[in-house]
Amino acid sequence: MNNTIRGIVIDPGHGGDDPGASGNGIIEKDLNLQISNYMYDKFRNLGIPVKLTRSTDETVSPTERTNRILDAFGNNSDVIVISNHINSGGHT
Ligand SMILES: [Zn+2]
Repeated sequence: MNNTIRGIVIDPGHGGDDPGASGNGIIEKDLNLQISNYMYDKFRNLGIPVKLTRSTDETVSPTERTNRILDAFGNNSDVIVISNHINSGGHT
């Protein structure tokens, strides 16, 4: 059995004109990017092939986002995609 992965695509949710959720001075798109950059560095340091769908505060349409995910390592079953979101939520 071969457990080798081809690569990891990290997708920082939202960006540019789409800020995502916000509250307590936090804007989701910015936090998503920080988390994604952190993960990107960690995977790179482990020698795992990794790519980001965006590395700046950039507007990415759903179609463009999908294309970037598929283009990163191809449309293959041995590619892992991690889409980071920090949604607002309520506690009861
Ligand atoms: Zn989100």
